[in-house]
Amino acid sequence: MKVYLETYGCQMNQYDSELIRSILQASGDELISRIEKAEVVLINTCAIRENAHRKIYGRLDLLRPLKKRLKRQGQDLVVGLLGCMAQNLKQDLFKHPVLNLVVGPDNYRALPKLIARVKKQGSKEIDANLSEYETYRGVAPARVEGVNAWIAIMRGCDNFCSFCVVPYTRGRERSREIDDVLEEVTSLAAQGYRQVTLLGQNVNSYRTEGGTFADLIRRVADIPGMMRVRFTSPHPKDFPQALLEAISTHPHICKHVHLPLQAGSDRILDLMNRTYHIKEYMALVNKIREMIPDVILTTDIIVGFPGETGEESRETAEVMESVRFDSAYIFKYSERKGTIAAREFADDVSAEDKKDRIVRLFDIQRRISLEKHKGLIGQKVEVLIEGAAEKRSDHQMGKSDGNHTVIFPATSLTPGSLVFVEIMEASAGTLYGNPLPTPALTCI
Ligand code: SF4
Repeated sequence: MKVYLETYGCQMNQYDSELIRSILQASGDELISRIEKAEVVLINTCAIRENAHRKIYGRLDLLRPLKKRLKRQGQDLVVGLLGCMAQNLKQDLFKHPVLNLVVGPDNYRALPKLIARVKKQGSKEIDANLSEYETYRGVAPARVEGVNAWIAIMRGCDNFCSFCVVPYTRGRERSREIDDVLEEVTSLAAQGYRQVTLLGQNVNSYRTEGGTFADLIRRVADIPGMMRVRFTSPHPKDFPQALLEAISTHPHICKHVHLPLQAGSDRILDLMNRTYHIKEYMALVNKIREMIPDVILTTDIIVGFPGETGEESRETAEVMESVRFDSAYIFKYSERKGTIAAREFADDVSAEDKKDRIVRLFDIQRRISLEKHKGLIGQKVEVLIEGAAEKRSDHQMGKSDGNHTVIFPATSLTPGSLVFVEIMEASAGTLYGNPLPTPALTCI
């Protein structure tokens, strides 16, 4: 069958779509890029914020005319909703008339069978059972070609931060065997990928009988051909000495640590069930900077958690000023059905206050990012070339070790090569420079 697959949300979802493609191709389906030709439309969804849900309902509404038109031509279009929203809302989703199929993140192996059943019987099918074991072992993701490959090393989360729906949509933590991960990375290096990003909802809690996350990341970084290894998204509670040593000493592990803060007030952190206070968070920041002096630190922040006062939001601003993150993802709190926060607290910070607070924090971060980027002017930065720059065809773009986007006049070097770039200009989001006449660096 001709299947059109659309993906929303985080990198984990992008990775899952690669698994889905692989599962469908193995059963003889064809993945196509034009929705008008599709017999099956699958939408892999996100549930992290309310506007993600709204977007998907809007998308389903838009599919109604297509489904009707095909029906008049005697063809039944199968529409399936996959991923976190499927797991979160399950049967309720069938209230939308366009849907035939609802499948959660641990049930993708069943997709070919479920699609065939809908086609044959015209039934509505659902499989949204969380698994304690599913890691999709033996399914090789059907990746889009590029320099970076995403690779999930664990699934699920046991932390139950009170605002977060992930433990309910992705289930309990489970880690892939080390050998399984190493085999996949070795094969990626042989295919020409030069960077892997290790993924997990709570990536640094990875643990198997074969070793910890620190053991795994070192062994991945040792694989010949892999120039750079990144990881996301970690929790501050899982940064033991061994992991910081690996980041600080291994030349292939990027000196970039994403360290979600979420809030600058201890009272709010307790309500969020984050299991650390600002004193501990700052001690970790100081330790990271001591061990990895040139580290790039980024973060996530939630604005307007239930009960957050103006003073508590100012505490978040103070932590931002004190840490001086290189960049930050800042979001307004959005109540998610089924979470501890939705059950126990009223979403009582007004829309206006949330807006004022987020604008203030954005302004702070923009200023700090710009100051830090300007501090790189005149420096030589090693860049892994990803391809042509989006808006300037005579330029190339790539990423620094710290994950800055760097744009420079095109060289003869191909994507996947390393080049030194002297930084000449900087904005809050991008660095601009000139490539230096150094020979291409290789990692083999
Ligand atoms: S650690 Fe991350 S994924 Fe897990 S519950 Fe907390 S915010 Fe959600």
